[in-house]
Amino acid sequence: MTLLDWKEELKTICPSEHISFEEPMSRHTSFRIGGPAECYIVPKDAEELKQVILFAKANAIPFTVIGNGTNLLVSDDGIRGIVIRMEEGSFSEIGTDGDRVLYRADAGVLFSSFAKAAVKLGYSELAYATGIPGSVGGAVVMNAGAYGGEVKDTLRSVTVLTKDGEIVERTAEELQLSYRHSNLSEKEEIVISAVFALKKGSPEEALSLQADYTARRKDKQPLEYPSAGSTFKRPEGYFAGKLIEDCGLRGFQIGGAQVSEKHCGFVINKADATAEDVMQLIGYVQRTVSERFGVVLEPEVRFLGF
Ligand SMILES: Cc1cc2nc3c(=O)[nH]c(=O)nc-3n(C[C@H](O)[C@H](O)[C@H](O)COP(=O)(O)OP(=O)(O)OC[C@H]3O[C@@H](n4cnc5c(N)ncnc54)[C@H](O)[C@@H]3O)c2cc1C
Repeated sequence: MTLLDWKEELKTICPSEHISFEEPMSRHTSFRIGGPAECYIVPKDAEELKQVILFAKANAIPFTVIGNGTNLLVSDDGIRGIVIRMEEGSFSEIGTDGDRVLYRADAGVLFSSFAKAAVKLGYSELAYATGIPGSVGGAVVMNAGAYGGEVKDTLRSVTVLTKDGEIVERTAEELQLSYRHSNLSEKEEIVISAVFALKKGSPEEALSLQADYTARRKDKQPLEYPSAGSTFKRPEGYFAGKLIEDCGLRGFQIGGAQVSEKHCGFVINKADATAEDVMQLIGYVQRTVSERFGVVLEPEVRFLGF
């Protein structure tokens, strides 16, 4: 099949309004950085997703799945093949288990929207998530967390599309969730939906916890600039931001990318940064911290298209 053929052929699988070509990824990442996706698809449901994946595999076309693009640095050259964006969906109560209520949320739902709705009902265990800007799928893949809470605490199971194109259930234990990690990316499995088991408490207490976390984020994080959140994982026994600050790198800039003056753990897009600027800055910070403190900073941000 020629290059042109596969793009035409795709339109027989997906309605053309779900597909775009040479779509700038800067529109779909919180960093506001990234060249074009050769082909960008927003499937409407799990069946359409499955057909796209099977098509990509059958024709040896590389594919990448993204959620809300809030933990990504996409190369200036963009991404070849198909980028599949998991977008929107719904969440609902599906039952109980002992004193816990089970909620199913589609992968494309914003984790913060789901968490805010849960908090309003008194599920304080999700208060930590009300300021995390990713999707439910991305949150599960990253085992997202904040303020002592993480996905692992309340996740019960997920429905995934396996690399063989099967839709199966996985228990939370099977995902081997640990600090900002699950085994889903290694296994090339795509999250379709997730079930959380939540314990109901007082809505007032849950809302006050949410207000506290929101205020702390506004106070500490450079939310006024595009970024992908914390650039580095927390190294065992240290805080990345503190190490970077102690190297004198607060406000250090390469091109348009800057170590945030407000929070040294965030690289921000200060002024029309390119992915190359961010990459160079990340490398510089890693080298400096390693030379000064002997600590290796591992990126939390994921790189696509490099
Ligand atoms: C201002 C700001 C604050 C942040 N604060 C926090 C925080 O407090 N705690 C925290 O943990 N993170 C935080 N983040 C980072 C980010 O929001 C989380 O990592 C989030 O979980 C990423 O979700 P996403 O949908 O944006 O995923 P993306 O960035 O789109 O993708 C992340 C990874 O998940 C994969 N992926 C996404 N969806 C799926 C799916 N359905 N199936 C399979 N793979 C998938 C992608 O391939 C990629 O490898 C912050 C980011 C910003 C910009």
